[in-house]
Amino acid sequence: MSDPGSDRMPGRFTGGCQCGAVRFAVEGPLGPASICHCRMCQKAFGGFFAPLVSVREARKVTWTRGERALYQSSNLVARGFCASCGTPLTYEAPDGMAMAIGAFDDPGMITPTLQYGLEAKLPYVDHLADLSGTRTEQDIAATAFLADIVSFQHPDHDTAVWPPESVTMQHPDQLETRENDA
Ligand SMILES: [Zn+2]
Repeated sequence: MSDPGSDRMPGRFTGGCQCGAVRFAVEGPLGPASICHCRMCQKAFGGFFAPLVSVREARKVTWTRGERALYQSSNLVARGFCASCGTPLTYEAPDGMAMAIGAFDDPGMITPTLQYGLEAKLPYVDHLADLSGTRTEQDIAATAFLADIVSFQHPDHDTAVWPPESVTMQHPDQLETRENDA
C-alpha cells in the first residue's frame, strides 16, 4: 500500500448537489479517496458503494450556497445531503468529514485509492467493467426523448444566479399530467 500522503491533492475544489441549492468549496489538500462497500454506505448513496474523499486535512470547507441537511445514521456518524434534491454530500464522523466524490465539479481528478467495508461488497461489483455498454447518443430508442429533454441540473461550476431566470422550471409530473389531460 502506498503512503496515503502521496495522493493528497492541493488546490481549491468546488461542487454541489444536483439541483444547485447546496454548493461547496474545499481549500485543499484533499485526503485519500476511497469507496466504501458497507451496507450503511450502500443505503446512504442508494448505490453499490459510497465514493468519498477525506477533507479532514483541508484548510477550509465552505458551504458557498445553502446548507446541507444531516441524517444521524448512527450514534457517531451523520450523513449530509441536499434536502431539496436528495444528493448525498458528506460522511461526518468524530475524526473528520469526507465528501461525495461524484458531487464535485470535476470528479474525474479524484481517484480512489482505498476500499472499505469489503464484508458487504455486492457480488457483481467486481464484474461491472465487463458489462457491455453504449454511449447515450448510441441509444436509438431514446432519440426522441433525448431531443426533447431540458436539463434542470446545476452546471459543474459556480453560478451567480440559479436557476437561470430565463428557464421556467417544470416538474416532470406536471408535464405528464398535461399530456394525460390533452
Ligand atoms: Zn439539491
